[in-house]
Amino acid sequence: MSDSQAFRATRENSHEADQSAEPETGITPGPQGAFKDVLAKNHARRGKPPVHFADMTEEERIAKAKELGLPKFRVKQLANHYFAHFDTNTAEFTDLPADKRELVGEAFFPTLITEVTRQVADDGQTIKTLWELFDGSRIESVLMRYPNRATLCISSQVGCGMGCPFCATGQLGLTRNMSTGEILEQVRVAARMMAEGEVAGGPGRLSNIVFMGMGEPMGNYKSVLHAVRQICAMPPEGFGISARNITISTVGVVPGIRKLAKEGLPVRLAVSLHAPSDQLRDELVPMNRRFNTTQVLDAAHDYYLASKRRVSIEYALMRGINDQAEHARLLAKRLNHYGDDWVHVNPIPLNPIEGSKWTASKPEDEQQFLDILHHANITATLRDTRGQDIDGACGQLAAKVKERNKALQAK
Ligand code: SF4
Repeated sequence: MSDSQAFRATRENSHEADQSAEPETGITPGPQGAFKDVLAKNHARRGKPPVHFADMTEEERIAKAKELGLPKFRVKQLANHYFAHFDTNTAEFTDLPADKRELVGEAFFPTLITEVTRQVADDGQTIKTLWELFDGSRIESVLMRYPNRATLCISSQVGCGMGCPFCATGQLGLTRNMSTGEILEQVRVAARMMAEGEVAGGPGRLSNIVFMGMGEPMGNYKSVLHAVRQICAMPPEGFGISARNITISTVGVVPGIRKLAKEGLPVRLAVSLHAPSDQLRDELVPMNRRFNTTQVLDAAHDYYLASKRRVSIEYALMRGINDQAEHARLLAKRLNHYGDDWVHVNPIPLNPIEGSKWTASKPEDEQQFLDILHHANITATLRDTRGQDIDGACGQLAAKVKERNKALQAK
């Protein structure tokens, strides 16, 4: 047995031992392949958001138009308004018969997201928006403009059921999955903001989407994929943002990674690893008790082979917990086990949540962590923490309305 095989066997054995212990997190251990328990128990009790143009298939849109007495070609006009002009204000759709505009608005474009607050940072180049959904739930998205791109970080679930103890969203728990329409509306509004010059730097184009806001995208796979296909289709079928510029992040839901690999979409996969060993990851990422680090890295590497896209490894650096030299060395060893140049590590300085014991690393530890990875020939960049002065870490804005969401869940 080679060193690396021995290493893997040790990890697998240690995971078997770990699995015998009762998880404290509410995530049920179970066979690989079923990931329904990613959803919270109260998920099914939530009402469904109104059906939106973005939720419908082409056939459903045509059928709905027919109900309104409109011929098929009107659907293409509507798609053009929505995807090419980012517009849902049917009162101004002058190419539609005047007596049908209101009906079309109600049937195809119900309001799914309403702005609650907007925080602006980085001289107007970062805009974080808190949205209220039809049932009063709140989610967030962050638009970040850079010299050569504009990236929108979007949410795919209300809250998150993964329970990572260092994460503000994790403290909310999961309220429900978001619909395709709710996911896509975040994109449409940001695309319009860019086109209309609402972001400092003048009019521009939304170019990148990352599913790194609230939620675990793999826990809402169907709606996320339906949204992804419409984000990357060319107008008037979609927003025309290249699939190569879309990143789907996961905490390590292995069946989801494997399913995504078969979709034939060159989207980038980002895995939130946060720890190089099962012992540590079991504590930081409860999902590790279900899919351990070996299973997650195996799936991530297979995704790389299938998609030819380098996988991002997200790693939130926490002072004295996972940011020491031994952690960087073990991470390098585990990644290099699969070969060269297949991953890009993004150590992220943790933006601590108020009153939490998890705090950000010292700058010298961050640097040491990076140096060790670079020395091991692993590409690694300290991730930009845009918007830190506006509670920029995942879920932190929403944490401020945690009590309200909790009250809603209790209803
Ligand atoms: S870190 Fe990500 S997966 Fe973990 S609780 Fe937060 S949002 Fe969910």
